[in-house]
Amino acid sequence: GEPLLSVQDLKLHYPIRGGIFSRQVGSVRAVDGVSFEVFPGETLGIVGESGCGKSTTGRAIIRLEDPSAGAVVFGGRDLASLQSRALRKVRLDLQMVFQDPYSSLNPQKRVGDLLAEPLTAHGRVSRKEAGRKVVEMLERVGLSSQFRSRYPHELSGGQRQRVGIARALMLDPTLVVLDEPVSALDVSIQAQVLNLLKDLQRDLGLTYIFISHGLGAVKYISDRIAVMYLGKIMETATTAELFANPRHPYTEILLDAYPAPNPHLRDKERIVVQGDVPNAANPPSGCVFHTRCPFAREKCKTEVPQLEGGKHAFACHFPLEVGRPPASATGTTTE
Ligand code: SF4
Ligand code: MG
Repeated sequence: GEPLLSVQDLKLHYPIRGGIFSRQVGSVRAVDGVSFEVFPGETLGIVGESGCGKSTTGRAIIRLEDPSAGAVVFGGRDLASLQSRALRKVRLDLQMVFQDPYSSLNPQKRVGDLLAEPLTAHGRVSRKEAGRKVVEMLERVGLSSQFRSRYPHELSGGQRQRVGIARALMLDPTLVVLDEPVSALDVSIQAQVLNLLKDLQRDLGLTYIFISHGLGAVKYISDRIAVMYLGKIMETATTAELFANPRHPYTEILLDAYPAPNPHLRDKERIVVQGDVPNAANPPSGCVFHTRCPFAREKCKTEVPQLEGGKHAFACHFPLEVGRPPASATGTTTE
């Protein structure tokens, strides 16, 4: 079928200014040519270390930030081509849930008002209708109507995130961008909120983009996964395929750290991602991962690998072989 969302060569570069005239002296390439599609009713997970551009990608999709280049086609229309009124209308269909529900909820307002706000601000609904919808959404996220009179500080972290989710759903969106929605929660609460998100998706026919640095949550909830590094997608595949046959060295390293180390690698041979993530203001030439890649060769320093391969795509000149053991262990495994 047709994708609900198609992101095409999306770029978001921030200018860096310097000198006495505050001239632009460079740019931070937070998102640097990202393309993917999201189909109705599915969850696309976007995973990567902090600073890889995954949150910025999410924010650019719902136009909390303006892309520098590229297209975001939603429901067949390029959002960049829409005038402000039409854009505002489409944006109601795109909502975002943030990592820290506390900072996204006005502490001086009661939960009932926080939830009614999106409706009364945008729609032509009566107070009574808004009130009915507030109770319905509270129930959907597993909270009783009593919560209407509570303030955010009176809620637990899990309850606050439930309110954050309810608020995002008040306008019946089609696509919800979930930016680290469980990362701030206790591990015991994370599974509950992930299950709630799955139930809501099934019951309301939602499409999700699930952004996280944690592979566990992404694996649990995503149908497909895109792995990002330094503003680019390194690999994308179905969740099962990505975990079974990672082809990009960066993916392999992420998987190796989760949940248990790869049994094919003995301790001293285990790959670790060495060094810090390079500065996005001065990204490495060629493959942006070459400064940390255990398999980098000369070609990697000069030639940018393209994301190729259709359903299972990866951007690497020297991808790992399909199947185990991974290339790093070749010749050293004793099995
Ligand atoms: Fe490593 Fe080269 Fe592949 Fe980049 S292109 S991931 S440096 S092997
Ligand atoms: Mg982030």
